[in-house]
Amino acid sequence: MDVADDLNLSFLLEHERDSILKVLQKDEKLRKREEKRIRKLKNELLEIKRKGSRPPRESAERQCARCIKTLGLIFDRGELCDECQLRVCSECRVSAPKRRQWRCNVCFELCVVRMSLARSHLGVDILP
Ligand SMILES: [Zn+2]
Ligand SMILES: [Zn+2]
Repeated sequence: MDVADDLNLSFLLEHERDSILKVLQKDEKLRKREEKRIRKLKNELLEIKRKGSRPPRESAERQCARCIKTLGLIFDRGELCDECQLRVCSECRVSAPKRRQWRCNVCFELCVVRMSLARSHLGVDILP
């Protein structure tokens, strides 16, 4: 048992050692599952980034960077997303609850995926 050797569990009673090993093996399974999930999340992240990096057209200033809708000069002029600094229309924004701040839908998705990635790394979300 490699794991047992690493941790030097020889000072423990046999039944204690057994239960610890059981936990470790279970952890290993969880870890593998988490790794799979993280890999999936990372792929999602790439996918969102790819989707979000549309090359700006010539009149990019007056277009929503997300849905390519033409923006008006007076109404629905769009606003710059704090995060990616791209101009987006009002429909492509997601605001945080109870806050004035908003992000464009791509930055929002990125944020959600990053947050669950961070949570996975911290192991908070590791419960089955
Ligand atoms: Zn839009
Ligand atoms: Zn953005």
